Amino acid sequence: MERSPAGQKMASVYIETFGCQMNEADSRYVADRARSLGYAIATSAEAADVVVLNTCTVRDNAERRAYGRMNHFNALKRRDSKVRLVVMGCLAEQDRDRMQRLAPHVDAVFGTRELRRLADKLAEWEPDFARTPREGADDDIRDNMLPFALGGTADAVQDAFSHLRAFVTVQRGCSYYCTFCIVPHVRGRFDHRPATAIIEEVRERIHQGAREVMLVGQTVNAWHDAASGADFGNLCSTVGRLDGLERLTFISPHPKDFTEKIVGDLAGVAALNPRVHLPLQSASDAVLRRMNRKYTLAQFHEKVELIRRHLPHCAITTDLIVGFPGETESDFRATLEYVRSGVFANAFTFIYSMRRGTPAARWEQVSRADALERFERLIEAQNAVTRAYHDRKLGHVTRALIIGDSKKDPDKLSAKTTDNVTLVAAKPLGYSAEAYAQTPWLDIEIEHAHVWGCSGRVVGRSERFNGPTVTAGRTIVNLMAAI
Ligand code: SF4
Repeated sequence: MERSPAGQKMASVYIETFGCQMNEADSRYVADRARSLGYAIATSAEAADVVVLNTCTVRDNAERRAYGRMNHFNALKRRDSKVRLVVMGCLAEQDRDRMQRLAPHVDAVFGTRELRRLADKLAEWEPDFARTPREGADDDIRDNMLPFALGGTADAVQDAFSHLRAFVTVQRGCSYYCTFCIVPHVRGRFDHRPATAIIEEVRERIHQGAREVMLVGQTVNAWHDAASGADFGNLCSTVGRLDGLERLTFISPHPKDFTEKIVGDLAGVAALNPRVHLPLQSASDAVLRRMNRKYTLAQFHEKVELIRRHLPHCAITTDLIVGFPGETESDFRATLEYVRSGVFANAFTFIYSMRRGTPAARWEQVSRADALERFERLIEAQNAVTRAYHDRKLGHVTRALIIGDSKKDPDKLSAKTTDNVTLVAAKPLGYSAEAYAQTPWLDIEIEHAHVWGCSGRVVGRSERFNGPTVTAGRTIVNLMAAI
C-alpha cells in the first residue's frame, strides 16, 4: 500500500489493458491523470481501490476474455463494497447496454472518446479512498483466479521500465471501413491531433526519460495537420529533430497512404527504427476487394519496393487474416506463396473473427475446420521465414531496449531490438531494475535463434542508444562507433 508523505494511505488504481497500442496509449493517459489526481498506481487488482479494465473488441476471444475478467473482478467487490470497477475501451463503446445487463456490478463504463470523463470520475471518487485504509487491502487473501490476467496486463502503466517507451497518439478513429473491422464503428472517423500538441507531448515524454517514442494511430500515415497542411512525413521529420529523441517508431500505417514523399521523408529521419509494419491481410485481389482494403497485391508490392528503395535495411512486418468470408483455397494459396517469398520478417496471423455490425459478419463464412487448417499452414510458412530472419542475427552483438523480466523466466531479462525482435538473456550478476532503468540499452550477444526471437547474453549496457557501452560505470567498448 502506498502512503502519502504525511503517512496517509493513498487512493490507488489498477489498470489492466487488452488490445492494441492505441489502448496502451489510452491506459497510460488514464494512469497519468490518476497520478496527477493523487492516486498511486497499484501493481495488483487486489490492492487497488479502483480497477480499470481497458477492453478490446477486435476479435471475439478478446471480447469473451474481457467479460470473464469483469466477472473475476466481481470477487473484489464482494470482499470490499468500496472497490469501484470501471470498464473503458472499444468493448465499452460497443456494448454499453449489454454490459449493464451482463455485468451489473460494473460501476462505470467509458467509451473510447470519454477518457476525460473517466478522469473526472476518478477525481470525484478520490476523497472516498484517501485517508481511509481499506480493510483487508494489505492481507494475503487472494481470489485464486485474480492473479491470472487472461491476456491483459498492467505492465504498460506501472513497471520500472514503462516510461522508456512512450506511446504518443497522433490520430484516433479510422474512415476506411474495412469490411471485417470494428474500429470505425467504435472509435469513429479520423480525428487527427494537431502537430503542436503531438510535439509538445513527445517533448514531455523525452523529458520523462523516454528512449523510444512510438507515434500511434489506427492509420497513422494518413495523419495530417489541418492548420499547416503537414503530412505524416513532415511530422516524423519534425519529431526526429527534437532534442534528446533517441528512437522513433510508429504503428499502424495503411499501405495505401505511403507515398514516395512520405517514405522519402522517413528515410531522412536518423532516429527512425528500421522496421515498418505494413498490414497486407490477404494476397488475393478478390479477397482484398471484399475486405475493402483499397489496394491490389501488385499495388501493395509497389509499397514494399518503395520502402526497400528508401529504407534498404528496414524489416517489414505484417498482419494476415485467413478464413475471411468467401476465401477459397486458391485465394489462400496466393497469401501462402507471397509469405513464402520471404517478404515479411514477421507476421501477426489471425483467423477471421466475425464482428457484430460489420458487413463481413453477414456474409457466408468459411468453415472453422478449413480456416484452422489454412491458419496452421500459414503459420508454418511464416515461421520458416521469421526463423531465417532471426538466424541472421546469430553471433552479432545487438543493442536492444530493456522491457523487464522475461515472462517465462524471472531470472532472465527481455528486450526489444529496434527492428522489433524479442531478445532474452540471463540477468547479469548484480542486476537491479533501478540501475538498468538508468542504462536501459542492452548489448546482447546473440547465441541462439528461435521463431519467437533470439537468446544470448548481456555483454554491456548503455544509457543512450548512440552512447558508449558501459558496465558497472566503466566504458568497455564503443559499440556504436564500431558499426
Ligand atoms: S484501415 Fe481498416 S483495418 Fe485499419 S483501422 Fe481502418 S477500418 Fe480497421
